[in-house]
Amino acid sequence: KQRPSNIRNLFEQTVKKYPTREVIVYDEERITYIELQKQVHTLADYLQTNCSLRKGDRLALLLGNRPEFIQTFLACAYLGIIVVPLNIRSSEEELKSMLNKSGAKMICGEKIFENFIQQWKAENPKARVLLTDKSDHDYDEMADILKKESSAPSYPEIEEEDPFYIMFTSGTTGDPKGAVGSHVNVIHSALHYREVFQAKEPVRTLIAVPLFHVTGLIGQLFYMLLIGGTNVLMKKYQTGPFLEQIDKERITFLFNVPTIYIMMMSHEKFDSTDMTSLDIAAFGGAPMSQGTIESLMKALPDLSLHNAYGATETTSPATIMPKMKGYSKMASIGQPVPTGELKVVNEYGEEVAPGDVGELYIKGPMIVQGYWENDEANMTSFDQGYWKSGDMAVMDEEGFFYMMDRKKDMINRGGEKVFSADVENVLYGHPDVLEAAIIGVPDSIFGERVKAFIVPRDGAEPSASDIKNYMKEQMADYKVPEYVEIIRSLPRNPGGKILKNQLVNAEEKK
Ligand code: ATP
Repeated sequence: KQRPSNIRNLFEQTVKKYPTREVIVYDEERITYIELQKQVHTLADYLQTNCSLRKGDRLALLLGNRPEFIQTFLACAYLGIIVVPLNIRSSEEELKSMLNKSGAKMICGEKIFENFIQQWKAENPKARVLLTDKSDHDYDEMADILKKESSAPSYPEIEEEDPFYIMFTSGTTGDPKGAVGSHVNVIHSALHYREVFQAKEPVRTLIAVPLFHVTGLIGQLFYMLLIGGTNVLMKKYQTGPFLEQIDKERITFLFNVPTIYIMMMSHEKFDSTDMTSLDIAAFGGAPMSQGTIESLMKALPDLSLHNAYGATETTSPATIMPKMKGYSKMASIGQPVPTGELKVVNEYGEEVAPGDVGELYIKGPMIVQGYWENDEANMTSFDQGYWKSGDMAVMDEEGFFYMMDRKKDMINRGGEKVFSADVENVLYGHPDVLEAAIIGVPDSIFGERVKAFIVPRDGAEPSASDIKNYMKEQMADYKVPEYVEIIRSLPRNPGGKILKNQLVNAEEKK
């Protein structure tokens, strides 16, 4: 099959095939593919004619999971405008920095951000602003535009390598960097999901993770737009309503960060919810403990469960677990996506043997072109076409990969390397442990010693010595956390990633 040459092409092809299928469900609103196509044409016309935006200009989105996010993203795809999806939970400082770095000419945002947006506009008088808010009974500019009939605009040529968006990384290990995703990056990633998952069609997904990160944007939205799937949008993740929607909307496909599965399974409605419609559940974005995977497999035995590993820079998947019906290789992040090339290298960039831990290097047509106007990161993060992931991994004899730790989080205790995954997986096996994270704390003798933070299950009160004794029975002594602190919750970002730097900083201040 010939692949589409850009996102406009991809979407038009899908509309032709499935005009009357639902593409977006949001509260009471239901939009079909053909209706969305009309909205996108109208909006593209508006951006071109009224806002004078041209190919290559940047338009920032400050929107949660709502139809306008999708409508605007697609309208930009038609015109070759580069979308900058902003993390709506960022502070004003962070937002300003992302807007400045990307040189946005326009913001499309929700009314709740109006103060911030107007302030930005005052500092950038030539900039355009488009506000939207369905819940507001006053004037909704966006809704008004969408009602209009558009003239048939002429669209520019779009090459497959043309930039499609600038997406800022989560900033888990440093300052967020603006990764530049192209049309062809997104097309390859969507094709990878289609090929590996082989989902039963028609597919209906429930999007509760943010659309401004790759898991929601690529692993759900653009994958659905390729196969004519339905996107049921949730403004905000809440476990009760999430379970209700799975049943009510007959959801077939889920793709979530691990935290959501943990919360789902510990919710009172989990056992009574009808989830028979579910065909596939994928997870990624952060490590999921083996204990959680096992519980999920037991709770939903008919489900096809897939670990998917990726990053903003890999436009979502780099590896996917083909199918996780059995318990073997449960800890694996899977195999490379069809057009992906992966290697595990030592500190000199040389490939290591299967079984040895090293940094994961990734190559393929889904790897982003680089970071927006960031020469330094472009120099240090790429090597001969490979993106240097900063993740420590190992490949087994059969070509399955295992993520061990982020390079920056790896602990060095007197020369012995301690990887988070090794220790945290064992901690999760303790019956009283709901969540766990380890860090290295500075030590004058060993350089670093291992410290564990434990969030206990409801009602459980494990002591530090319980945990230490349990660990001693199961692992080499140098890996056993010497310090254990019981806390109420772990600091996480909206994507569910544990912010270990916050734990380290808090430790330094003690
Ligand atoms: P920054 O680069 O700014 O520090 P970040 O690396 O968190 O932020 P993202 O692109 O959002 O930015 O996240 C990608 C990272 O998430 C991967 O490099 C990896 O560390 C982690 N990750 C993604 N999927 C998985 C998975 N299935 N299992 C374990 N970790 C994962």
